Amino acid sequence: MGSQTGLSKTILNMSYDLNGIGMTSQRTRDRLIQRLREEGIKNENVLEVMRQTPRHIFVDEALASRSYEDTALPIGHGQTISQPYIVARMTELLVEFAPLNRVLEIGTGSGYQTAILAPFAEQVFTVERISPLLEQAKEKHAALEITNIRYLLSDGSWGWSEYAPYDAIIATAAPEEIPKELVEQLADGGRLIIPHGTSYHQRLSVIERDGDELITTDLDMVSFVPLVREK
Ligand code: SAH
Repeated sequence: MGSQTGLSKTILNMSYDLNGIGMTSQRTRDRLIQRLREEGIKNENVLEVMRQTPRHIFVDEALASRSYEDTALPIGHGQTISQPYIVARMTELLVEFAPLNRVLEIGTGSGYQTAILAPFAEQVFTVERISPLLEQAKEKHAALEITNIRYLLSDGSWGWSEYAPYDAIIATAAPEEIPKELVEQLADGGRLIIPHGTSYHQRLSVIERDGDELITTDLDMVSFVPLVREK
């Protein structure tokens, strides 16, 4: 990635229509932002990053016209790109104390949430267990010229201990129970935001570390794909 030449970058950029037309145009994107605002998203920086980031390049071309609807969409391999409202809400919760130094994301998927987080952190570390998804996400981040993301193909239930502790950890797949490894990799003052529970009843929780103390706040009911723990 790092050795990419200017020329190949241009070709890469041209293979994606970053500006969009019709159902993917800036006007269509602005409508989504207006809707997120009406649904209660308040952080203007988060809204602005979402306004500027083309979500349509993160979904299959056949679904591009639906990419500015506030809905999750399939991305192949039985996975989904998260609903924009959820991306906005989770990002808002994480960046309340921005600027963040290191952020860990479990479940890269399409790479859309990663792209939204990137401007708020020094470095984003993202872990995905499905190789083709991780490769596609890398390509899209390169097309958007986002350079502060590191990738790991692995079971993210273990976190990514090499770069711990993290100021923020976000999981975009839901375990039944919160893996203790993720809590252990939180920096003092850091927060973990994670959906957890069974497929139909997941709770979004925020866990903050204050020294040895952990403060848990339970938020909305949500619906994420399961976090698959490799045996
Ligand atoms: N934020 C992503 C959401 C993708 S869905 C987006 O907006 O596109 C959740 C992702 O978590 C899937 O890609 C799935 O493969 C991945 N996942 C599930 N279990 C995992 C695990 N144990 N480790 C790493 N990734 C996992």
